Amino acid sequence: MRIIVCIKQVPDPEYASMDKETGTVVREGVELMVNPFDLYAVEEALKIKEEFGGEVIAISMGPPQTEGALKEVIAMGVDEGILLTSLDFAGADTLATSYTLSMACKKISDFDLVLCGKQAIDGDTAQVGPGIAAHLGIPQITFVRKIDAITSERIRAERLVEGGYEVISSPFPLVMTVVKEINEPRLPTLKGKLRARKVEIKKWGPEDINVDKKRIGSEGSPTMVDEIFTPVLTKEGKIYSDEEMEEAVSEIITAQEEMGLI
Ligand SMILES: Cc1cc2nc3c(=O)[nH]c(=O)nc-3n(C[C@H](O)[C@H](O)[C@H](O)COP(=O)(O)OP(=O)(O)OC[C@H]3O[C@@H](n4cnc5c(N)ncnc54)[C@H](O)[C@@H]3O)c2cc1C
Repeated sequence: MRIIVCIKQVPDPEYASMDKETGTVVREGVELMVNPFDLYAVEEALKIKEEFGGEVIAISMGPPQTEGALKEVIAMGVDEGILLTSLDFAGADTLATSYTLSMACKKISDFDLVLCGKQAIDGDTAQVGPGIAAHLGIPQITFVRKIDAITSERIRAERLVEGGYEVISSPFPLVMTVVKEINEPRLPTLKGKLRARKVEIKKWGPEDINVDKKRIGSEGSPTMVDEIFTPVLTKEGKIYSDEEMEEAVSEIITAQEEMGLI
C-alpha cells in the first residue's frame, strides 16, 4: 500500500494571533508544531503499512522551516518527506492549497490512499482534504473514526456524523480525513530521530509538479477575507427559582406569542 499523508505546520495555539489587516494567521516569530490532527493521519498510515506493507510518504506545502515538521513525522516512522516550497505557493487559500497538494500526489503517482487530518487548527476550514479528492477526481471519506476492513480492492470505514456514525466503503485510490477518535499517535523513537536527522527532505517547486501557475499561491486564491472579529454572544439565559415557576410559565408563553409561535 502506497500512502501519502498531508501534514501542515501550524503556529502553537498558545502563541497564535491574527493579522487584522490581511486576515491571515501570524506565522512569523511564533512556535510551530505539526497540526495535531495530522499526527492521527500519520499514525493510521503507519498502522496500515505495518499490517499490509508498502510505504508512507509525507507531503507539506509551506515555507522552508516546514522541513522540521516533516522530520518530526519521519521520526515517527514515515519513510519519506516532500516539501512543496516556493514563493509562488505563498498566499494560497484552500482552493490553491488543495490544487497544489493534488498535483504533488499526481507526481508521486501510484498511490492507494491520501490521508489528511480532519482540519488544521489555524485555518480550521476542513476543506483541503475534500479539495484534494475533487482535484484528483477520486472518492473521499471524511471524518473517519475507524478503518474496519481493507481488501486489495476496497476500504471500509466509519465516519463520524452528528449523533452517530456512517459506514462507507470505497474503492482505491481515495482520500480520507481522520478525527482524533481513530487512534493514539505514537511518539518518535530514538532510532527514528536519528534517521530524521540524516534524511534528506525533497523540495519541490511549481515546475517539479507541473502546476498551472495561475492556480497556485495568491493568484490562484479567490478567497477574500473581509473582516475578522469575535462574534458577540446575543443569546441571553434566565434562571428561575422554584418559587418563580408561575412567572416563568407566563413569561415563556408571552415570549412565544410575541414570536408568533403560538
Ligand atoms: C487570502 C488567504 C491567504 C493565505 N495565505 C497564506 C499563506 O501565505 N501561508 C499560509 O500558510 N497560509 C495562508 N492562508 C491560509 C491557507 O489558505 C490555509 O491555511 C490552507 O489553505 C489550509 O486551509 P486550512 O488551514 O483551513 O486547512 P484544513 O482544510 O482545515 O486542513 C485539513 C487537512 O488538510 C491538510 N493540509 C492543509 N493545509 C496543508 C498544507 N499546507 N500542506 C499539507 N497539508 C495540508 C492537513 O492534513 C490538514 O489536517 C491564506 C488564506 C487566505 C484566505
